Amino acid sequence: MNRLRWTDTHCHLDQIEDPQKALEDALTSGVERIVAVSEGPESIESILHLGSRYPDRILVGLGIHPVSAVRLSREVVEETLQTIQARLPEAQVLGEVGLDHKWATDESSQTWQLEVLRRQLDWAAHERIPANFHSRRCERAVMNEAIRFHQETGLGAQLHWFTHSKKLIRITNDAGIFISVGPRILDCDETQKVVPTIDMDLLLLETDSPVPFGGKSARPEWIHEVGHHVAQLLGIDVTELSIRTEANFDRYLSMGRDSKEVPR
Ligand SMILES: [Zn+2]
Repeated sequence: MNRLRWTDTHCHLDQIEDPQKALEDALTSGVERIVAVSEGPESIESILHLGSRYPDRILVGLGIHPVSAVRLSREVVEETLQTIQARLPEAQVLGEVGLDHKWATDESSQTWQLEVLRRQLDWAAHERIPANFHSRRCERAVMNEAIRFHQETGLGAQLHWFTHSKKLIRITNDAGIFISVGPRILDCDETQKVVPTIDMDLLLLETDSPVPFGGKSARPEWIHEVGHHVAQLLGIDVTELSIRTEANFDRYLSMGRDSKEVPR
């Protein structure tokens, strides 16, 4: 039997204590590729460093996280944005970007978060790279940004941890937006009900490591277990799920990259 291959499409690899060990453990479980997303100035540097050390395993995600966008001073955010714009040619993905209304609770911080997001999306459009979105407590607003980005540029858009609503999944399926499923699938009824409604051609897997689940910090090798659960839930062979999610991820990375940029 062929070995199963997986990609962790959303991971905070720089926040794991020993990233090298995490990469080795992941490989043992067939997790050959990891999208390492950044959050703020320090993680941007760490992830660029990790990406240059392990170029065949790590896909570099650069971006300022929506929580960082409102927690850091505007001055630091502006500097970080300049770094992102300058270093984006070294990245394969824009992320983690998005909106977060748990942290942006008033109108001015929400407006600022949206401005920070849209500036980064413009640069991703210019560099012809896909975008990885966060959407806590503002799923519909972020979904609309993702759809607009995809429609205007032809580039891939991925909503991470977006498994709360079948109604929204119907919209993302029609719009061709990728949805990544993480370890919540292991123990959350709501996630288990929503995941089977995701178009099989738009399904990706992630761990969001090292976010804690069930009292343990997630690790990229958990993708293997997530994959087995998803396959069981969908009633398909795990080998088929592995082949399809890998093909989906390749399509997410490559779509729209040959087309000419459509200015926003
Ligand atoms: Zn994350």
